[in-house]
Amino acid sequence: MSVSPAAVPSSDATPTAEAADAAVAAISESAGQEASFSLALTQDQKDIRDWVHGFAADVIRPAAHEWDEKEKTPWPIIEEAAKIGLYGFEGLAQFFADPTGLTLPIVNEELFWGDAGIGMSIMGTALAVAAIFGQGSGEQIGEWIPRCFGTPDDVKVAAFCASEPNAGSDVSNVRTRAKFDEATNEWVINGQKAWATNGGIADVHVVIATVDPELGSKGHAAFVIPMSENKGISQGAKVSKHGLRASHTADVYLDDCRVPAENVLGGKEKLDERLARVREGKKGKSQAAMQTFEASRPTVGAQALGIARAAYEYALAYSKEREQFGRKIVENQAVAFTLARMKLEIDAARLLVWRASWMGRNAHKFDNAEGSMSKLKAGEVAVWVTERAIQILGGNGYTREYPVERWHRDAKIYDIFEGTAEIQQLVIARAISGFHIS
Ligand SMILES: Cc1cc2nc3c(=O)[nH]c(=O)nc-3n(C[C@H](O)[C@H](O)[C@H](O)COP(=O)(O)OP(=O)(O)OC[C@H]3O[C@@H](n4cnc5c(N)ncnc54)[C@H](O)[C@@H]3O)c2cc1C
Repeated sequence: MSVSPAAVPSSDATPTAEAADAAVAAISESAGQEASFSLALTQDQKDIRDWVHGFAADVIRPAAHEWDEKEKTPWPIIEEAAKIGLYGFEGLAQFFADPTGLTLPIVNEELFWGDAGIGMSIMGTALAVAAIFGQGSGEQIGEWIPRCFGTPDDVKVAAFCASEPNAGSDVSNVRTRAKFDEATNEWVINGQKAWATNGGIADVHVVIATVDPELGSKGHAAFVIPMSENKGISQGAKVSKHGLRASHTADVYLDDCRVPAENVLGGKEKLDERLARVREGKKGKSQAAMQTFEASRPTVGAQALGIARAAYEYALAYSKEREQFGRKIVENQAVAFTLARMKLEIDAARLLVWRASWMGRNAHKFDNAEGSMSKLKAGEVAVWVTERAIQILGGNGYTREYPVERWHRDAKIYDIFEGTAEIQQLVIARAISGFHIS
């Protein structure tokens, strides 16, 4: 049902018989029409949710502790996900195709409900894919996205490398340099990338580098670098982490790394045109890295939600079993109210995530940084809920015999990567005020 401006009462209007008649007419006119706003999931969305949940419950959750302890990429689980179509280009395209935008966050929430480290091993590739999809030409999309996943018999992963030792929150400080060699028609890339998910083990690396350092972030471009055919790219130190330990994180070195001219996303011609516009003082597009992060923030928020929901459900079940002072611990208001707030916060965060996902999918501009809002809220909720879950489990919550301490460790990264909580607030504050707040 669409509401015409005439049907919206103005604040100073005095009710009249005509106005009442018009309102009734508008209601009857809309009867039987399809609602344009609904939070009820479609059958397709429910089917996909249940299918992913089944995989998360039967395959991921039982393996979570083992891979967290091993601190290794769970290749056999990625392979299983590929075999059922959950990991791969077609699966991701199908999730993305949902015009409401909800399927992608639903899938992420369910996977990360199973386990965040394994979930990130399955979904880490999506960040590189988002960069190629968002900035690449049709030809580049067709060539590189399938390579990011490999095949079910030979699975591959991809990495998105923006951060550097001195360019974390401040992506504009990227020092990795791409120079064009006219003689060989190649880009020559040199630099060091930090904390790259799947860095060094990926078949395809999407690397953000500066083409013209004088232009700051507007001089950045994204390059596709295939690992297997390139001697100039190598893995640096693998990072040992607090959480997400089944997901591989490492530095990546680029040492006279040569790639053909056509490996710059969007094509060299377009890049040259864009840089020329910026040099003339005309408005240029936002940074290559920022475009990718803005699009992926609601999905990342959905991952945090999955962790939070896992912890809430576990704590709720535990509180109904555990007895102290001759009654279930949930019978104490202190515990029950905490659980009530955990559920409330998770549901509130989900609404923000779904709103931003719907906006992103339907090309609504994030005028108030709704993508950042969703990721900020979901990250903070995940950290708070998992911490409360430990509290509800008492001493058990603090041990590695129970999963809630792992969920707490995993949740913390959602305050940090893809823009820290402070940076999300900065983005929101700038968007709502129009001022350059620093
Ligand atoms: C597990 C993991 C996986 C990652 N995966 C990837 C990946 O795949 N690809 C990739 O490119 N990067 C990745 N990163 C990097 C991640 O995005 C950065 O760590 C993050 O952006 C923060 O940067 P930093 O660590 O340099 O922190 P810093 O930027 O040094 O920030 C330190 C502190 O200062 C605060 N701060 C900084 N500037 C401001 C400001 N202007 N106002 C207020 N506060 C400020 C921050 O909020 C933070 O609290 C990953 C990191 C981790 C830990």
